[in-house]
Amino acid sequence: MKKNTFDVIIIGGGFAGCALAYHFAKARISTILLESKHVCSGTSSACAGRVQIFDSETPEYLKIVQQGYSELPFLGDELEIDLEWNLPDDLTLFYSEEQLASHLEKIAWMKDLGLNAEFVKPEKIKEIEPCLNSGNCVGAILAEEGHLNPFKFGWGYLKSAKKLGAVIKCFSNVEHFIIEDNKIVGVKTSTQSYFGKYIILATGAWTGFLTQKIGVQLPISFTKAEAMVSEPLPKIIHHHLGTNGFYDSVHGEIKTVTLGLGQHNNGCLLISNAIQPANKIERTSSAWGMPAINQKMREFFPTLNNIRIMRTWSAPSPFSKDYQPIIGWLPQFANLYIASAFHLAIPTIPVFSKQIVDHVLSQNHNVASDFLEPYSPKRFFK
Ligand SMILES: Cc1cc2nc3c(=O)[nH]c(=O)nc-3n(C[C@H](O)[C@H](O)[C@H](O)COP(=O)(O)OP(=O)(O)OC[C@H]3O[C@@H](n4cnc5c(N)ncnc54)[C@H](O)[C@@H]3O)c2cc1C
Repeated sequence: MKKNTFDVIIIGGGFAGCALAYHFAKARISTILLESKHVCSGTSSACAGRVQIFDSETPEYLKIVQQGYSELPFLGDELEIDLEWNLPDDLTLFYSEEQLASHLEKIAWMKDLGLNAEFVKPEKIKEIEPCLNSGNCVGAILAEEGHLNPFKFGWGYLKSAKKLGAVIKCFSNVEHFIIEDNKIVGVKTSTQSYFGKYIILATGAWTGFLTQKIGVQLPISFTKAEAMVSEPLPKIIHHHLGTNGFYDSVHGEIKTVTLGLGQHNNGCLLISNAIQPANKIERTSSAWGMPAINQKMREFFPTLNNIRIMRTWSAPSPFSKDYQPIIGWLPQFANLYIASAFHLAIPTIPVFSKQIVDHVLSQNHNVASDFLEPYSPKRFFK
């Protein structure tokens, strides 16, 4: 047996890579996770910790989200970590009748699954969020939503994976793939080679750059998303608050700010999102983004003058051509699996990661997992 040989090599140590390392190790599969920087230093480092439900785009996707949402309150016990689970709910504001109408059906989708969601008339919004200036809002939807500490979410999976025997190597940037026939038999970092039966790309926004190295153009793009966190403040906001159009702008082609605002239990306000198109990954906060978020926040909360901002950040926000995750075997190679472009990552990664482990271990490329088939990369290579 060659040195550095594992059953599974996971490339990328974000939420997805950490959850996968945990489930493979739990299934007693020898696993190594290679991360180019620190774990959860990619898009996972930007995450607000929302367990979004209302943003599910189809009833089918909502079912996966609901499954994750129902499991998350117990995940902390499984991973032996306090995930700081709570239920702030989400209030999404609408500024056009047309947009509102196109979202009202989601209330029924949620109710069908036993989840709370209701329409809120404009004149009632003040009763729910007294400090909010909702301007000429035509109505809002109040929907069930959870929240957890995103750092602990990634860390919980990682430390449990390690405990079960997974090998974690940080500062191990995968630079090359070792190919024999139509198989990736190993990968190379600048200092080491690692060999594996199955190779999994859990590299989020970086996935397209890696598949280019093996001649595959995977349609995964990203925008640059920016956010900030304030000093602790007295209670000013009671739900997560968002303006409609968040995912239109996350996937969009113009510079825009779509407000997402939540107040953590420690009093800090997490304020997002300034979005702009990007074709290279660049992590600095921009000169337009920070003032633009600030101005938007003050339109909605005029009393929030002169608050101090503790930290700003920027991360690539990845998405596929059809905005669905990309999960499954890459058709060009016999043993290369993609697990990227997650949408509503926190509620879905716990569900998808278990399904992915079962799918990979079913050992047969041609056995499609019914659950994962809609997300297969094959859909881009017909
Ligand atoms: C501002 C912001 C707020 C968000 N808020 C939420 C939220 O509240 N709720 C929610 O569910 N989602 C949220 N998201 C989305 C969520 O954070 C992401 O979907 C999720 O973190 C993606 O995880 P991942 O593991 O797929 O990717 P990543 O976390 O990006 O992990 C990929 C990893 O691969 C590594 N890598 C890349 N190339 C290589 C290589 N060659 N070798 C080795 N390693 C490599 C990278 O360093 C990185 O750590 C938010 C996103 C943004 C930008």
